[in-house]
Amino acid sequence: MNAKRPYRICVLPGDGIGKEVIPATVMLLQSLPKNQIDFEFTYDEVGYGFYQKSGTPLKDETLEKVRASDAALFGAITTPPNIPDYFSVIIRLRQRLDLYSNLRPTRFYPIAGAREGVDLMIFRENTEGLYSGIERVEDDGNTAITERIITRKGSERIIRAAFEYAKKNSRKKVTLVHKANVLRESDGLFKRIGQEISSHYSSIRFEEMIVDAMAMRLIKDPENFDVIVTTNLFGDILSDEASMLCGGLGFAASGNIGDNCAIFEPVHGSAPDIAGKGIANPYATVLAAKMMLEYLDESGSAAKIDNAVIGALKVLVLTKELGGKYTTSQVIDELIKRIRE
Ligand code: ATP
Repeated sequence: MNAKRPYRICVLPGDGIGKEVIPATVMLLQSLPKNQIDFEFTYDEVGYGFYQKSGTPLKDETLEKVRASDAALFGAITTPPNIPDYFSVIIRLRQRLDLYSNLRPTRFYPIAGAREGVDLMIFRENTEGLYSGIERVEDDGNTAITERIITRKGSERIIRAAFEYAKKNSRKKVTLVHKANVLRESDGLFKRIGQEISSHYSSIRFEEMIVDAMAMRLIKDPENFDVIVTTNLFGDILSDEASMLCGGLGFAASGNIGDNCAIFEPVHGSAPDIAGKGIANPYATVLAAKMMLEYLDESGSAAKIDNAVIGALKVLVLTKELGGKYTTSQVIDELIKRIRE
């Protein structure tokens, strides 16, 4: 643990159930033994509720707060339809803070339908590719064009991040996913850079796979994959596909990581239909907090949370949408009890 000072965590609950699952998860983090890990939480408002009060969903000071923190925890944001000056908070944070790695783990937890033996980490490039934001419609209005940007810098850093993660976590294989047979230039470059970087990691197996084959193999034999690295759109789709192997959105967490800061979040949205009822499933946010602890190199505390989650799931501590009757706070109480055991 950081002996000098507590970890500074910037907390951005956002809208809807973000305001429930984030405070619940902060309580869980605060229950970790203080002599092993300590936190200093700073809070800020973001999202649609904040936009209605202030005219912006994200103020510049918030970016500075995230930058000055060791890590940030982000809840969820409601996306209102048809407001021209409204923008996606998380996309703005990723761009402004250059959070180029999007990490999405999918791992077996003892829940109905989860595939045993699955333990994979998807590294999705988070700043370019088909989400370059460069789009136009031709004068006749009948042709729309989006540019797919793949750069050496963007590819090198995400592929290297995947290999470094594999090395640090004793993972055996990195699979690079592409469509270079059709996207010869852009994915040709991405693939070539993967081959170059892989030569520096001789103890890690390197494999390449075309994205359509990967989409099938993820369902057929997901336990054969370990670390996957791919471009923005492919990673977006494959990571949601992978999450369905192990409990779906209720257990899907993600990390947005750059060279100097990182934001961790549940993948689900703000769920306005159940907000305020106290029944939101907090597991995805709890697993996002666990990822945050791993990022901070606090593997002991991360393991405590993971074991508490596994123990609670084994005795069916489940919220309503998973077929259980536990409230958000009852799930957290149960996890805290297990951490203290
Ligand atoms: P947004 O506008 O924020 O994207 P949404 O409702 O369109 O919200 P999600 O928030 O992802 O999208 O919700 C999709 C469905 O899944 C909703 O019925 C919601 O109630 C449910 N859901 C999402 N997250 C959770 C959760 N943590 N616990 C329980 N149900 C959830």
